[in-house]
Amino acid sequence: MSRTPPHITDHALIRYLERVVGLDLSAHRRAIADRVANAVALGASAVVSEGFKYMLTDSAVTTVRRAHSERRLPAWQEGRCPDCRRRPGERHAPTCSSCGDVS
Ligand SMILES: [Zn+2]
Repeated sequence: MSRTPPHITDHALIRYLERVVGLDLSAHRRAIADRVANAVALGASAVVSEGFKYMLTDSAVTTVRRAHSERRLPAWQEGRCPDCRRRPGERHAPTCSSCGDVS
């Protein structure tokens, strides 16, 4: 019996996230497209959005990495509302599912 740990391909991992975990990958694909649309139209090779750098080749997004080398927490871990992304002490956005101030 082999003790080699199984290798999970990126394709298998994506299908797992989509079909087993239930992530709506098409919604995330649209979110990425919205973030990079202007940069693609301008012929940019990369765009930074909310601390992440989206690498572009022609109209394709080839990878996403942190914009800065130091470890940076995602916005929701910095106390921001995960829905409207407003900071602690600010009011939630009118379209946010939470009410009152962000704590
Ligand atoms: Zn909110």
